[in-house]
Amino acid sequence: MTLRTPPVCGGSGFWRQRADVVVVGTGVAGLAAARAAHRAGAKVVVVSKARETATFYAQGGIAVVIPDGDDSIEAHVADTVAAGGGLCDVDAVTSIVADGYAAVAELVGAGAVFDESEPGRWSVTREGGHRRRRIIHAGGDATGAEVQRALNAAGSTLDIRTDHVALQVLQSGGAVTGLQVLTGDGPGVLEAPSVILATGGLGHLYRATTNPDGSTGDGIALALWAGLAVSDIEFIQFHPTMLYTGDAGGRRPLITEALRGEGAVLVDAQGNSVTAGVHPMGDLAPRDVVAAAVDARLAVTGDDCVYLDARAVPDVARRFPTVSSACLGAGIDIARQPIPVVPGAHYSCGGVRTDVHGRTELAGLYAAGEVARTGMHGANRLASNSLLEGLVVGGRAGRAAVAHARTAERKRSPALEVPTRPVLSRPQLQHAMTSYASVVRDASGLRRLRELLDGTTDRVLADRRAVEDAALTVTATAVAVAAAARAESRGCHHRSDHPATDPARATSTDVRFDSDGQLRVARQLGVPA
Ligand SMILES: Cc1cc2nc3c(=O)[nH]c(=O)nc-3n(C[C@H](O)[C@H](O)[C@H](O)COP(=O)(O)OP(=O)(O)OC[C@H]3O[C@@H](n4cnc5c(N)ncnc54)[C@H](O)[C@@H]3O)c2cc1C
Repeated sequence: MTLRTPPVCGGSGFWRQRADVVVVGTGVAGLAAARAAHRAGAKVVVVSKARETATFYAQGGIAVVIPDGDDSIEAHVADTVAAGGGLCDVDAVTSIVADGYAAVAELVGAGAVFDESEPGRWSVTREGGHRRRRIIHAGGDATGAEVQRALNAAGSTLDIRTDHVALQVLQSGGAVTGLQVLTGDGPGVLEAPSVILATGGLGHLYRATTNPDGSTGDGIALALWAGLAVSDIEFIQFHPTMLYTGDAGGRRPLITEALRGEGAVLVDAQGNSVTAGVHPMGDLAPRDVVAAAVDARLAVTGDDCVYLDARAVPDVARRFPTVSSACLGAGIDIARQPIPVVPGAHYSCGGVRTDVHGRTELAGLYAAGEVARTGMHGANRLASNSLLEGLVVGGRAGRAAVAHARTAERKRSPALEVPTRPVLSRPQLQHAMTSYASVVRDASGLRRLRELLDGTTDRVLADRRAVEDAALTVTATAVAVAAAARAESRGCHHRSDHPATDPARATSTDVRFDSDGQLRVARQLGVPA
């Protein structure tokens, strides 16, 4: 990564710089986009508020159909759609899955090394909801670290600026003109006809999450503030097995699902299976099913956690070094002791509405990776499909952004003050989201959440913390609005007051700001808005 000095100040008190394409984020989607745009000959500037990414922490792997195996695009699409609870866009899934192998091959060309079962043959494992072994991995359970390492190395000639916080997408006449950013040297504007949001997820809406500190929903907020819709935002995936370490908040280690793929079992404190009789795929059922089963068992037993027993997995500590060392850090030897686990906020299935090239409804604005909603995940993401989506759609968004930049009229962004936005204190927000919008929700809890979210105060977005708090506040409000409107249970949205799936609601929910400044459901077919 090259670190550049801050650009010089312009006349208006803000510094200004020009680019063809600005990419926000240095995870899998951002770097895939930036590399593609750079290779297409564009002047690309990549900004990131931090070095840490969710990509780095990915464990299990990348789901990909290897052409000479017993798998098929159709089988991978079928598993993805089955997990997605009726809300996947089958064309989008097919398009992304079909390009998976080429995108992974390109990553290998960039230097990524995946584990092999024999020389020249990738080792493939299974995770929840996959009926075939199609998950490639690296370093046992350190896939994300290898993906990030390879992309960082391949992107070493890119213009990457860390400690730059995206504040606002700038637009004029229905098209993007640039991005307002905050740096240690004050605010500035990157003038560009194309901006790609690759800002990752929103796990810090909750007290405890598998996500890194920067996963605060910033891209969702930037899109909402720019007047765009976010879709399927009520579908927040809780990973069934986050390490339980007492009442600790913030980022907590994930215990990869691949352990269950290799034979680890989920049991309660009495040693009873948590998923027996719940789903034909048992512990390898889709995540929403397993997380809900754990939540239900904890409600019955009153225990703080259930256990993942991996003692029968051969050579477990060597094969799963990331999990093993995280557990050792908490005093647990996974070869000898069951691992205490709880469901943890993990992945945003919804996001900024885009097509499979990352295009949003605003000309020149693109979104890719976890921040985007392409239609790939529907109401519940299938394990290991997100690195795949980030690679494929990131690359496509980079190319689409360059094509747009070549033809777009270049307009100067207006000189702007640093914006002021409503903010709810982070501990209050996280407590309310954890209490009322976790694995299981109901109407009265969601009402209470809205009341709390209405108690905001306006803050100037003068530093990273303020930007993140404002982003969390608007994102939590969008989740509360969408979750309240979805009076049914589907995918990872479980309503205790509406436990059944309503076939009339098999459609996505769009939320956006109304003309009166309120976030509202803009569209949910079958249901009056
Ligand atoms: C513990 C864990 C394990 C996982 N395991 C797997 C797995 O095995 N397989 C799989 O497919 N998926 C897995 N996932 C999910 C997957 O890792 C993520 O969905 C994916 O990496 C997201 O990539 P991204 O590029 O969209 O975002 P990230 O990798 O999160 O990158 C986001 C980037 O945006 C930047 N950013 C955010 N906001 C701003 C802002 N306002 N201004 C400037 N920069 C900003 C951040 O600094 C960061 O650089 C896992 C996730 C976690 C947390």
